[in-house]
Amino acid sequence: MTKNPSPVGTADQTDAPRNHPQILTTIPGIRAASRAARGARQRIGLVPTMGALHEGHLSLVRAAKAQTDFVIVTIFVNPLQFGPKEDLSKYPRTFERDCALLEKEGVDVIFAPSVEEMYPGGAVTFVHVEGLSDRLDGVSRPGHFRGVTTVVSKLFHIAEPDQAFFGQKDAAQVAIIKRMVRDLDMAVEIVVCPIVREPDGLAMSSRNAYLDATQRKQGLVLSRVLKRVEDLFHQGERDARLLIFAGQEVLRSEPEVRPDYLSIVDPDSLEPVEQASPGSLAAVAAYVGTTRLIDNAILRH
Ligand code: AMP
Repeated sequence: MTKNPSPVGTADQTDAPRNHPQILTTIPGIRAASRAARGARQRIGLVPTMGALHEGHLSLVRAAKAQTDFVIVTIFVNPLQFGPKEDLSKYPRTFERDCALLEKEGVDVIFAPSVEEMYPGGAVTFVHVEGLSDRLDGVSRPGHFRGVTTVVSKLFHIAEPDQAFFGQKDAAQVAIIKRMVRDLDMAVEIVVCPIVREPDGLAMSSRNAYLDATQRKQGLVLSRVLKRVEDLFHQGERDARLLIFAGQEVLRSEPEVRPDYLSIVDPDSLEPVEQASPGSLAAVAAYVGTTRLIDNAILRH
């Protein structure tokens, strides 16, 4: 079971000085902080994360700081979005370091609830976005997106943000959350931030920490696959089958990397397209050892 990430003190620290983020662990605590900020006419920005923060996460925090007045970052390793054979228990947890990073960014509140706080005994209500949740990552991770949409909708209800910030890195997640917000009339604007990469092209991910040096190099094949697809698209190729074929050839150049999917889809419906067009989403997922990596690119002129 996930442990509460050793919060600094067990009680909510509502009297922390303004330049330190308050660390809140209870739902009434975060709701009160958010409502107080709203009462002071501040716009509230929410950045949901599972912690083990890197520059990708911090880019969302910076966008939230730039666009809103009161920034809440959540750190919660959500058991509901992990399958029974997935990495819930070994998912990296670096709470103290995360807090230090968020303090530097000038975040107002860190919300780090326990699993029990978020899912009290008897919780049987879920939010499920039909169809989309079974595409891309949803194929090999059944139930994953139901876990994501359930926790994100809970966070929206709890924190009542004006804007919530998500990374394009998880392109399917973005499409699914946008659809949920639209379908359920949630009063929050979804802001999508670009993928942050390592200098060599590897998309930043908390799971990159699992990779040894050899696997780290092998993982670069995902961005090479996308580069190949993008190059062909620039050259005028529009046949999605041919684009995928060319990408798969690049994937095969790393035989140790086990492909999950390489697809070209409509970025909103996540349905495969036959003809790629500007705005189509090229998305790839593959296993390097036991680590599952994902990456994507929006095709442009
Ligand atoms: P996670 O902690 O993996 O749940 O990610 C929290 C948020 O950070 C999600 O909206 C992710 O899409 C976003 N994110 C993760 N990695 C990156 C990245 N390399 N670039 C941009 N956003 C990212």
